[in-house]
Amino acid sequence: MSLPAEVDVLVIGAGPAGLAAATTLASVASVLVLDRENAAGGIPRHCGHYPFGLREFHRLMKGPDYARALVDRAVKAGVRVATGVNVVELEPGPRVGVTSDAGRSYIRSKLVLIATGVRESSRAQRLIGGDKPGGVLATGALQGMVYLEGRRPFRRPVILGTELVSFSAIMTCAHAGIRPVAMVEPNPIVTARWPTGLYPWLKGIPLHLSTTIKRIEGRSRVERVVLEGPAGETVIETDGVIVSGRFLPESTLLNGSHIERDPATGGPVVDSFGRCTDPAYFAAGNILRPVETAGWSWAEGKAIGKAMRLALENGLPERDSSRLKLVGDALAWAVPQQVGPDADAALGRLQLRVTRPVRGRLSMRVDGVEVASRRISTRPERRILMSLPESSGPVEIVLEEE
Ligand SMILES: Cc1cc2nc3c(=O)[nH]c(=O)nc-3n(C[C@H](O)[C@H](O)[C@H](O)COP(=O)(O)OP(=O)(O)OC[C@H]3O[C@@H](n4cnc5c(N)ncnc54)[C@H](O)[C@@H]3O)c2cc1C
Repeated sequence: MSLPAEVDVLVIGAGPAGLAAATTLASVASVLVLDRENAAGGIPRHCGHYPFGLREFHRLMKGPDYARALVDRAVKAGVRVATGVNVVELEPGPRVGVTSDAGRSYIRSKLVLIATGVRESSRAQRLIGGDKPGGVLATGALQGMVYLEGRRPFRRPVILGTELVSFSAIMTCAHAGIRPVAMVEPNPIVTARWPTGLYPWLKGIPLHLSTTIKRIEGRSRVERVVLEGPAGETVIETDGVIVSGRFLPESTLLNGSHIERDPATGGPVVDSFGRCTDPAYFAAGNILRPVETAGWSWAEGKAIGKAMRLALENGLPERDSSRLKLVGDALAWAVPQQVGPDADAALGRLQLRVTRPVRGRLSMRVDGVEVASRRISTRPERRILMSLPESSGPVEIVLEEE
């Protein structure tokens, strides 16, 4: 497919968020979705397991079927999807620079949606010491090998992490006949919400809480890991390590661009319409924060697609530049970063996360006056939601720990 020089809306990333927004916009605008992979569908394309699709198609689907259905729905709605196209530059205008087999070119549009998802942090970023043998994989790499290449990289790995995606790793292992020998969690409790946390138990995988991987040992392949937990050091014989969690928004594109990044989320600063600091650019899905489910990202893409439609048709209200302030060192981040009493808000609730397991009182103050509060008991990588303020003024979110 040759790329047009101009469209109404350009969507970067053909995952659930980008495809949902594109489908929502197709009846009022010419929409082009670009993805650097050789097929559209985003991460679910690599997840050959259930459960996807309940919210979107009202049935249980495996990831690849779900991804195909999202693409089909978008194409039927009139969206053009181009794969093998890497977006490398964002400019005011908007104008974006892309590279593909056809070389380097630029595309102009009225609006751009950034929906580039997340990437996983590496073993080095998780500060795991020891040898550097083969067999240490992030979940995404494991899924690519198992579902796309039909390979089995190991038989009895250790899984590091207990958030949503580590359970995707267990399902991927089950599909390939791989039997994890341990699941390791640095925190004292499983991160994923009940009942997901029962899954390792159902699968007979020993769970090591308050434990870290101190060293990975082995020459060419992983042979064992040394765990450090409440009982001291334990050695587990294993042939692989799956490193899950600590996701980062795939926001490389923002480097050197004019669009402001939030150092706390790693994604762009947005308002409650999903608008970036250049209001011709919007963002949706896991680029906004690590990491949510496909259904959540899809719903968010759809809502922000509606906001973009409003922007094209009638224009959206101006946003003042005041930023939400977080008070309390256990608060990790909040999205959207610019909030107000927006009747048509696409991001209808404020989403927060913490840096460590905490209990305490979470409150919202507008112009110094408390407008909402509640007790929380939560842990990192778990979603906390708060209603948007109903009045205007500088907003503070305060966490007082017990
Ligand atoms: C390893 C892993 C496993 C997961 N498993 C599950 C699961 O089992 N169930 C679940 O509900 N959620 C799972 N998730 C969460 C997942 O992120 C969401 O399901 C969902 O895919 C997020 O949708 P998205 O549209 O925001 O991003 P993505 O699905 O990540 O799509 C982003 C797209 O943007 C493209 N892209 C990125 N940068 C560029 C660029 N510069 N130019 C062009 N294209 C670009 C990428 O190629 C990708 O196709 C998993 C996440 C990870 C990392």
